[in-house]
Amino acid sequence: MKNFITQKRDRLYCEKCDNLVHYKTIKQSETFKVKGEKIEILSEKAICIECAHLLYEPYLENENFKKAYSIYAKRNGLILPEDIKRIRTKYSAIQVVFAKAIGIGEATIQRYEVGSLPSKSNSDLIKKVENPSFFLEILEQNKDNLSMTDYNKLLQNIKKCIEEEKGDLIEEKNTELITLEFGDIKFDKLQGTIAAILKNLKQQGMTYTYRTKLFKLLWFVEAAYYELFGKKLTNIEFAHLPHGPVPDNYDSLMMFLQNNKLLIEKREEEEFYGNHYEVTQIFLLDETAEKYLEESEKGIVERVISEYGRLTSKRLSEISHEDERYKNTFNGDLM
Ligand SMILES: [Zn+2]
Repeated sequence: MKNFITQKRDRLYCEKCDNLVHYKTIKQSETFKVKGEKIEILSEKAICIECAHLLYEPYLENENFKKAYSIYAKRNGLILPEDIKRIRTKYSAIQVVFAKAIGIGEATIQRYEVGSLPSKSNSDLIKKVENPSFFLEILEQNKDNLSMTDYNKLLQNIKKCIEEEKGDLIEEKNTELITLEFGDIKFDKLQGTIAAILKNLKQQGMTYTYRTKLFKLLWFVEAAYYELFGKKLTNIEFAHLPHGPVPDNYDSLMMFLQNNKLLIEKREEEEFYGNHYEVTQIFLLDETAEKYLEESEKGIVERVISEYGRLTSKRLSEISHEDERYKNTFNGDLM
């Protein structure tokens, strides 16, 4: 395979015209045999502009060849040359460093990137190191192949990718949450309300709270707001559960709030009457999120927390059971 042909010739030799001639290109189907497998592609061919004789143009032939190889690679689940290059440059690694880091020859990588077919095992290996956490493990195994400088540089780049992908994942998950699960929720109001609830609790000496209590307080704030303005504050939907109303999809909701660094949940062991329980404590991280609320809205939260803030989750559940909307719905219903 001719590898280093980077552009088309201006003119080609035509044996019929016995001259250097200009040419044009046509498409025609052509069958290649790759590792015993027949691959048919639409090839681009050069023909003499004077006599239409088929001419050999190295760049075009090479591209046709690459096309056939690429179809073979796809059919057999092998990684493509452009993907190898993309993965390598993602870690800002030059060929020799990348090759040593994954434990294959430099010339091998070079050949792969210009179109040679990789072995299945090398193909799988390169596919896997696209995941930086996996690359980190492979790098440790091949550490001795690299100079200290190259090793450290690559290590930093891999770690950077791990961090970036973590960030991307959170971002992606958040967008997904917002669009799929919580279409109508006003997220600024929700964050403002939860910040205000937790802040008011803190002012009453409670530095953290629990999910059941937070959800009930949110419910009471919504109820108080509705009573005053005849509409919803955050547009959160509540579901009827045996221990009272809870926000629909609350697991995703809490994940969203944590990802946005509004609050943090910590698993802790707590003692109640001599027994130890694992509980989830919720701490406010961003007090400034209260800014999303109008003064009148902050006032409602303040009133609700001064009335209900000191009550236990159990007592709050009992009160919420008295609500008409709770009484008129059944388990699992949206209220
Ligand atoms: Zn000719």
